Amino acid sequence: MPAGTLYIVATPIGNLEDMTFRAVRVLGEVDLIAAEDTRHTRKLLTHFGISRPLVSYFDHNQQIKGQQIIAALAEGKNVALVSDAGTPCISDPGYQLVRDAAAAGVNVVPLPGGCAAIAALSASGLPTDEFTFVGFLPNRQGKRRERLSSLAAEPRLLVFYEAPHRLAATLSDMADLFGDRNAVVARELTKIYEEIARDRLPELARRFTETPARGEVVILVAAGEPQPEHAPPDMEDMLRTALAAGCTVKEAVQRVTALSGASRSAVYAVALVLKEKG
Ligand code: SAM
Repeated sequence: MPAGTLYIVATPIGNLEDMTFRAVRVLGEVDLIAAEDTRHTRKLLTHFGISRPLVSYFDHNQQIKGQQIIAALAEGKNVALVSDAGTPCISDPGYQLVRDAAAAGVNVVPLPGGCAAIAALSASGLPTDEFTFVGFLPNRQGKRRERLSSLAAEPRLLVFYEAPHRLAATLSDMADLFGDRNAVVARELTKIYEEIARDRLPELARRFTETPARGEVVILVAAGEPQPEHAPPDMEDMLRTALAAGCTVKEAVQRVTALSGASRSAVYAVALVLKEKG
C-alpha cells in the first residue's frame, strides 16, 4: 500500500478570513489532524464545519506521537499538521515530524498561509531583500543580552517573536546593544487592535515602557551600519612605503594616521615593528 501524504497546513494568525480555501478542503478530507492544542484546533474546525479525528502533537509528546503519526502515514492514511496559529514548524512544533516522514518516504505537502513574521515584514516598510529570522530570544535577561550581542554585527534585518510582557525589556536591551536603529513593532496582526509602530529603537523602548502593550508582537530591527575598520589592511603597506621613502617613524606615523583612519597608537605600534625589522 502506498504511504499517505503529510500536509503542513498554515492557519490564520488572528483573522479567520485568512483561512485558505485549500486549507479548509484538505482539513476536511484528511484521515487525521495532528494539532498542537486539540481544543484550540477544534474551535477552528467547528467554525469551518469540519469534523475529522484529532490527535495532539506538541513539543513534549512529539517523540511518541510522532511515531504513531508516521505509522498511520505508512498505512496509507493522510495526515494534516496544524499549530495554534500560523505556519507549523515556524517557532512551533513540527520539524521532527516532517524530517521523520521524509525519511520514511512519505510525501510532505506544504499549504502556505498565515505567518506572523512574513505579515510583519510585508507591512514594515523596512528593506526586506535579506533578513534573519531569530524567533524567540531566551527569557532570562543575561542570556537574552548575550544572544542580542551575538547578533549586533549581523548585516541583515532581524526578525524576533516576543511575548508582550517582555516587550519593553527586550526593546530596551536592543536599544542598548544595537544602538539607534530603525525598528518596527507589529502587534496583534490581522486582529481588531492591530498596530504597526515604526520608529527608532530607543524611542520604541521608551514608548512601550511607558505604555505596556498587550497582545502578540513581532519585532523587526533594521541592519546596522557596517563598522569602520580599526586597522585597514593597507595601513602596514603605507607605513612600509613611508619608511622606505626616508620618513622618520614620527613622520610616517603622522601621515599614515591621517590617511588610514586608524588610531595613532595602533599605527605607531606597527611602525615600531617595521622599523625594528629594518
Ligand atoms: N507559527 C507561527 C507563525 O507562523 O507566525 C508563530 C508561532 S509562535 C509560538 C507565536 C508568536 O508569533 C507570538 O508570540 C508572536 O511573537 C507571533 N505572533 C503570532 N500571531 C501574531 C499576531 N497576530 N500578531 C503579531 N505577532 C504574532
